[in-house]
Amino acid sequence: MTERINVTRSSMPPYEEYIEAIKPLWETHWLTNMGTYHKELEQKLAEYLDVPRLSLMVNGHMALELAIQSFDFPEGSEVITTPFTFVSTTHAIVRNRLEPVFCDVKEEDGTIDESKIEELITPKTVAILPVHVYGNVCNVEEIQRIANKYNLKVIYDAAHAFGVKYCDKGIGNYGDVSIFSFHATKVFNTIEGGAVVCKTTEMYEKLYNLKNFGIRGQETVISVGANAKMNEFSAIMGLCNLKHVDEVIEKRMQIYGLYKERIGSISGIRLLKDERKGSNNYAYFPISVGDDYYYSRDDLYSVLKENGINVRKYFYPLTKDLSIYADKYKKTDLKVAQVLSSKVLTLPFFEEMDKDIIDRIYNVMSED
Ligand SMILES: *Cc1c(COP(=O)(O)O)cnc(C)c1O
Repeated sequence: MTERINVTRSSMPPYEEYIEAIKPLWETHWLTNMGTYHKELEQKLAEYLDVPRLSLMVNGHMALELAIQSFDFPEGSEVITTPFTFVSTTHAIVRNRLEPVFCDVKEEDGTIDESKIEELITPKTVAILPVHVYGNVCNVEEIQRIANKYNLKVIYDAAHAFGVKYCDKGIGNYGDVSIFSFHATKVFNTIEGGAVVCKTTEMYEKLYNLKNFGIRGQETVISVGANAKMNEFSAIMGLCNLKHVDEVIEKRMQIYGLYKERIGSISGIRLLKDERKGSNNYAYFPISVGDDYYYSRDDLYSVLKENGINVRKYFYPLTKDLSIYADKYKKTDLKVAQVLSSKVLTLPFFEEMDKDIIDRIYNVMSED
């Protein structure tokens, strides 16, 4: 019986390393509330990601939800965003009582189609919320130009883009704010976790209040904050994983190379945007199943599954087609997003993958 291959496998540091690192907690009993390790990870990550400062959060979703909340947009304001994303992106807008306005994406890389943003702007528009999907860098220059022209905020969901550099700068420097996810399935993880990039002290303070009930002293509460703090066990996991992340990305790069050679040679299968604007963090291996391929996308999904290979239709359906959102928001032209979403599959991708696994996947996919 051959082993089932999962689509991801969380990175973990050597067991002894983590156990050694958490030992001091049994002396201090300081487990959360912006402890030593929380502080240390905020500094080390800001350095690694090449951003001025960041605020750690309990997960990427709360990072996005609170980042949006920090702007105090009027209720019912419109946010131009993409439906080709994880549902968290759309939920974060809606949970802030704002209206998502869905913009189409580009077929080559799945990022928002900047040429279609302007036509969606109305007097109610307050922000653009694009996603660096699969770590592909959005057209940040054009998006900023539009935002400046109409006085809009730019909020990037950079959940997939850990460590990505663009024009010699960390990707988190673009827009007014960016958020990262450190979920177990991402390239870098703190088990659950996330962060908001803060370009100003004011932003950092605002997010501090939002993630800690607005508490600023034993008898002082200055705002209606939530609780979205990262605990010390997670922060230590992050510090341990951070030591190995370059090595992890290096390994993923090699797997990507092998994958590209094999899967990229199959006629009718296209790799999503191999030539990139920014650096690659090798977070995902998305493919697009063409009409000229032997199987349809859904059939290929099933055939792989029957052969013990778990893949994902990442992202299908579009968030705006989920029953909770269908027909709720402004109708917009999403032709490309619909097509892409009907063709895309993400293949298994984790650092311990070897050539044999890739060959197994190749053999199933190239069989006809
Ligand atoms: C993972 C992810 C999130 C949410 O992050 P969590 O840490 O899982 O809460 C948001 N947006 C995108 C695009 C993601 O992939």
